[in-house]
Amino acid sequence: MTDAETGDAESAPSEVDRASDVWVFVEEHAGDVMPVSWELLTEGRRLADDLGDDLVALVIGEGVGDAADEAIARGADRVLVADDPVFEPYRADPYGTQFRELVEERVPSIALIGGTHTGRDFAGRVAVPTHAGLTADVTELDVDEDGQLLARRPAFGGDVLATIVCPEHRPQMATVRAGVFEAAEPDLDREGDVERVDTVVDEAETLTDVLERNVSDTADIIDADRLVAVGGGTGGDLGPAAELAEALDAELAASRKAVDEGWIEGARQVGQTGKTVRPELYVALGISGAVQHVEGMNDSEVVVAINDDPNAPIFEHADYGIVGDLFEVAPRLAASLEGEADPEEVLQ
Ligand SMILES: Cc1cc2nc3c(=O)[nH]c(=O)nc-3n(C[C@H](O)[C@H](O)[C@H](O)COP(=O)(O)OP(=O)(O)OC[C@H]3O[C@@H](n4cnc5c(N)ncnc54)[C@H](O)[C@@H]3O)c2cc1C
Repeated sequence: MTDAETGDAESAPSEVDRASDVWVFVEEHAGDVMPVSWELLTEGRRLADDLGDDLVALVIGEGVGDAADEAIARGADRVLVADDPVFEPYRADPYGTQFRELVEERVPSIALIGGTHTGRDFAGRVAVPTHAGLTADVTELDVDEDGQLLARRPAFGGDVLATIVCPEHRPQMATVRAGVFEAAEPDLDREGDVERVDTVVDEAETLTDVLERNVSDTADIIDADRLVAVGGGTGGDLGPAAELAEALDAELAASRKAVDEGWIEGARQVGQTGKTVRPELYVALGISGAVQHVEGMNDSEVVVAINDDPNAPIFEHADYGIVGDLFEVAPRLAASLEGEADPEEVLQ
C-alpha cells in the first residue's frame, strides 16, 4: 500500500533522498591493485566534490591493508575494508554478496566499478537485487544540476554516445572502461578513515570454487609504455611491425580492421570498441586514423604515423609523420634503433 493510500504524511525518506556518497570499488588481486581503480578514484573525487559528498573506497580481498592506505592517498575520504580469506582468489558470489550487503545497509548515491573481468562479473549481482541502475562500459561521467549521475557510453555498436540516467533507484552504478580517465599521483599526506567491516560471506554457503586458473599470456596493451599498432596497410604481414616493436621494446596493438581480418587477437584492438590506451609512444603502421580508432589512442604522449597516403587523417593526430611504404620505413627504423643504420638516412 502506498503512503497516499495510508494517508501517512510522515513517510520515510525515499531511497533517492537517503542516498549519499560516491563509492569506488578498489580491485585488488594478490597484492596488485588494478590501475582502473586509481583512475576511478580520481574521477570519483571530482564527482564527490561537485556533489559535496564524501568519496568512499571499498576494498575487498585478503591482506588488503596497503590498498586501503593507498586509496586514501589517491583521494578517498573513507575506506571500507572487507578483509577475509573467503575473498581470495576472486569469486563472483562472495564479492557480490559482500558488496550488495554494504550497499543495502549504507545506500551510496553512486557506485563506480572498473570494467574489468572481475568488475563486469560481479556488478550485476549487486545491481539486480538492489534494483540499482547499472550502466556498463562507461567512457564519460558527470553529474547534472540535480546531482544525478550522467553515465555516457557508446551505444548501437558505437554509432552514438548514449547518456544514461537512473532517477528512481540508488545507487547509480557504472562499470567504467579502463584507461579513459587519468589517475592522479598519490598524496601521501592525505588523511582519511579506514573502517573494517564485518564479513557477511560464509564459505560453507558459497556456491563456487576455483579449481584451476588459466591466465592469458597476452600482455595488456593498456599497461604498455610503448605500442606499435598495425592496421589495414600491413595487409596481414605483421613481420615489420613485430621487428620494430622488438627494437622499441613495445607491445603490438591494432586497428579494428586488423582484428576483423583475423591478423591479430581482439584483446589488442585500440579504439571505441576496443581499448583506450595512453602510452608514452604510439606508432601507427598503415592505420588510416578513423575517428573510432583515434578515440582510443588520442591521449598517447607521442604519436608516430607511417602511412603511404599523405592525406591520411592519422597525420592530424601525429607528432611525427612519415609518408612512405611501411614495408620500407619500419625495417629501416628498426635497424636504426638497433644501431645498424644511420637515423638521418632513415628519414631521407
Ligand atoms: C561502430 C564502429 C566502431 C568502430 N570501432 C573501432 C575501433 O574500436 N577501433 C578501430 O580501429 N576501428 C574501429 N572502427 C572501424 C573504423 O571506422 C575503421 O574502419 C578502421 O579503423 C580502419 O582500420 P585501418 O585504418 O587500419 O584500415 P584501413 O581503413 O584499411 O586503412 C589502411 C591505411 O593504411 C595505409 N596503407 C596502405 N598500404 C600501406 C603501406 N604499404 N604502407 C603504409 N601505409 C599503407 C592506407 O593509406 C590507409 O590509410 C569502428 C567502426 C564502427 C562503424
